Amino acid sequence: MTALRVAVIGAGPIGMEAALGAVRRGWDVRVHDAGQVGEHLRRFGHVTLFTPFSMNSTLEGRGRLRSAGVDLPPDEAHITAGHLVERYLAPLAKLPELRGVVRENERVTHVGRDALGKADGGGSAGRGAWPFLLRIEVGGAAPRFDTADVVVDASGVYGQPNATGPGGLPAVGEGDLGDSVERHLSRGLVDAKGGYARGATLLVGDGHSAATALVALDALARDGARPRVHWIHRARPVVFHEVEHDPLPARLDLARRANRIASGTPWLTRHPGVRVLAYERRPDGRVRVTLGLPDADPREERDSASQATRTLDVDRVLSLVGYRPDLDLTRELQVHHCYATEGPMKLAAAILASADASPDAAGDCLAQVAHGPESLRNPEPGFYMLGAKSYGRNPRFLLSIGHQQVRDVVALIEREFPAGTGAPTLSR
Ligand SMILES: Cc1cc2nc3c(=O)[nH]c(=O)nc-3n(C[C@H](O)[C@H](O)[C@H](O)COP(=O)(O)OP(=O)(O)OC[C@H]3O[C@@H](n4cnc5c(N)ncnc54)[C@H](O)[C@@H]3O)c2cc1C
Repeated sequence: MTALRVAVIGAGPIGMEAALGAVRRGWDVRVHDAGQVGEHLRRFGHVTLFTPFSMNSTLEGRGRLRSAGVDLPPDEAHITAGHLVERYLAPLAKLPELRGVVRENERVTHVGRDALGKADGGGSAGRGAWPFLLRIEVGGAAPRFDTADVVVDASGVYGQPNATGPGGLPAVGEGDLGDSVERHLSRGLVDAKGGYARGATLLVGDGHSAATALVALDALARDGARPRVHWIHRARPVVFHEVEHDPLPARLDLARRANRIASGTPWLTRHPGVRVLAYERRPDGRVRVTLGLPDADPREERDSASQATRTLDVDRVLSLVGYRPDLDLTRELQVHHCYATEGPMKLAAAILASADASPDAAGDCLAQVAHGPESLRNPEPGFYMLGAKSYGRNPRFLLSIGHQQVRDVVALIEREFPAGTGAPTLSR
């Protein structure tokens, strides 16, 4: 009998914890990451996380690293996303039990079942008799197929940014923006000599990332740079929700600082309730943006051509309007997605039904709890979606929730594969 073959997609914080939990059970684990360990966190490496180190790591991970002689940040420290990679995730990948397990620069493009189509054995446990098939691309080489008994999809959402146009649709010309648009909190935001420090930026979005961007731009302005920012956000009296008696002071501080900036600063022009209709790249390299004005009620307009608009020219666009899961990855599997969030249905329903979804909890992602092992099941046996991807488009995911999901799923797998072995089929 071979050991249970577990494939983890994504070496982010949740994929790495899943790998650690799985190798501790003696399972044969492979973690594939399209980039490097902690790839998505690296993209916003300069951003200070609002949860302390104890909430961004697990007891098991810290214990293993300490016994391997790794010097860890204090539990209560607020470190950057980059430091979380450097001081925790990368050292985890070097632990003897994970050596050779984590495979960087391996993109999983599709997951299916060997010898079964999507429609075969609809919703039946019988599908579990066939191993999963993972199609993996490594650089320019021809893709290969790996097999696995269990697949944990922890591929996150940060690789699939949402569009900025009306109703979440791409604005006209959005696909042609090329390098005139950024869709992540890049290091450029803290670069006193970079593009954000001069010229005009269109910032779209009003979540935590937009708050972080405003605070970073304000720091540039205070240091003598001359950012000019047009900011499109939803019309509401207080843009960033301030959680009363917030147990995460760093999060409250961010919301307060961003609201203070929003209340008036010379480098910022607000456009509340405005919609982006179109972008046009100009011969001089600038971007002309067509905005739909809020005083026109879109319900009364037949099409955007008859809407009240204005244009403005900017040097770049910073789109921070959230991210979405890559559903194509597992399209050949029988996964039931929520119609609203695109997260796995059982978990999405549990989140929706819970007190976390009540208006009082709105904005406080800390008020959430994990919803137990059963919420992580879906019609495809042996397939589990964890981490940010399990929340789909719901932006309220926290690492501490993902850590509990990992514990729940490892217990679930132990129950479902009691001998610790999988289907005796193809070798890897
Ligand atoms: C700016 C920002 C700040 C945040 N701050 C906090 C905070 O303070 N506290 C908190 O608890 N949460 C925070 N979050 C939310 C969340 O915890 C993070 O997004 C976290 O990175 C999610 O971890 P993950 O492991 O689920 O996914 P990710 O970190 O997104 O990791 C997914 C991994 O999968 C890889 N991957 C993707 N597709 C494929 C593929 N097809 N094949 C192979 N590999 C693939 C990626 O390269 C990546 O390494 C923050 C999020 C953002 C965006």
